[in-house]
Amino acid sequence: MARYIGPACKLCRREGEKLFLKGERCFTPKCAFEHRAYAPGEHGRAHNVRGRESDYARQLRAKQKARRIYGVLERQFRRYFEVALGKRGLTGLNLLQTLELRMDNVVYRMGLAASRNQARQMVSHGHFMVNGRRTDVPSTLLKVGDRIEVREESAKKPMFKDLAEVAESRNSALWLERDLKNWTGRVLRLPERAEIDGNLDEQLIVEYYSR
Ligand code: SF4
Repeated sequence: MARYIGPACKLCRREGEKLFLKGERCFTPKCAFEHRAYAPGEHGRAHNVRGRESDYARQLRAKQKARRIYGVLERQFRRYFEVALGKRGLTGLNLLQTLELRMDNVVYRMGLAASRNQARQMVSHGHFMVNGRRTDVPSTLLKVGDRIEVREESAKKPMFKDLAEVAESRNSALWLERDLKNWTGRVLRLPERAEIDGNLDEQLIVEYYSR
């Protein structure tokens, strides 16, 4: 599946806020947003002082922000929206839950990676199994009850030996079970809204696609 390969920090500057796409670096003074908190490009500074945004602009920005946080391109994001629309309940919440169940996000939420980008790379390098089968597609959608584990061969690699201690210091989402001794995890339930990034506005995203 295709992915955005341009500079991550430009995405934060475009959205006018930190999206935390680069793991540890985002918490250091090296963060590009700390010293250039305006949109990239020749007219970037002017962009930041524009007047009141139209409804369309706000809807578009809400959708772009969610896409960028989860690292999903437009066509796939729209597909997730259609999946969400076809489910019972609130479309916006369904969409966020679908995004949270992406395999790269689950690895990130388990605390095994510093960022979703890193989690994506770990998945695509074939380090994980889902329900006993090797799975290297980061966009794989997990279901409640699915078991995820680090492959035995991968767990012996120095990368995972170093990771054990770091992962311990990171929290795992409450809707996931995590066993770092055995490098396994399980999706216990769907995440509740309060357990998903509060900075996302799913209602605006629904409005964007309902125009
Ligand atoms: Fe965004 Fe992180 Fe880059 Fe800062 S370092 S601009 S938070 S991706």
